[in-house]
Amino acid sequence: MKGKSLLDTLSEDRERRIDKAESNGWEYCLCCGRQIKDTSEAVEIEMIDGGDTWTFQEENDLNDPGYMGAWWLGKTCFKKWVKSLEQ
Ligand SMILES: [Zn+2]
Repeated sequence: MKGKSLLDTLSEDRERRIDKAESNGWEYCLCCGRQIKDTSEAVEIEMIDGGDTWTFQEENDLNDPGYMGAWWLGKTCFKKWVKSLEQ
């Protein structure tokens, strides 16, 4: 599963939540900025192709020169993301 569509929920709330999470050292959902208390309930996604594409898990290639890092998505946002890719 790969796709570009993800950050369509940019908002002031998201920015505010991320600022708070970062200042507290919390894991947070990249999409909505909400704190992720239990990462077993979240999905780790990776930015690849030099930042052009998002992917997750099975397709990881951390040695790929285009690999840019990994972030968390909460379950709900992950489902939304997958759905947006299917459209
Ligand atoms: Zn989220």
